[in-house]
Amino acid sequence: MHGRMAPPTWATARASHRDERGGGGRRVGHTRRIDTSPPPPPFPESLCHRCAHLRLVESGKGSVFLMCREPSLPKYPRQPVAACARFTPVGDAPG
Ligand code: SF4
Repeated sequence: MHGRMAPPTWATARASHRDERGGGGRRVGHTRRIDTSPPPPPFPESLCHRCAHLRLVESGKGSVFLMCREPSLPKYPRQPVAACARFTPVGDAPG
């Protein structure tokens, strides 16, 4: 070192300017609340919602699908399901 301080960089100059204003660098104003609650399940009238074989599947984009875990049926039955021979009321599923 030669006893001389290096000239301030752009970043340090900006930081000291912020300090002088007393703002602490925190931005206020342009905030918005983001709803992180899951979307409501689709087809609320579907029989599947009361069935033990239902599994709700959420895609990476946030869409929710009704998946049937009953092996003898298609995984994604045409919705809304009004009647189903394999319907098992929630709570009646075998252990
Ligand atoms: S068994 Fe029938 S009612 Fe139950 S989830 Fe599958 S399609 Fe829906």
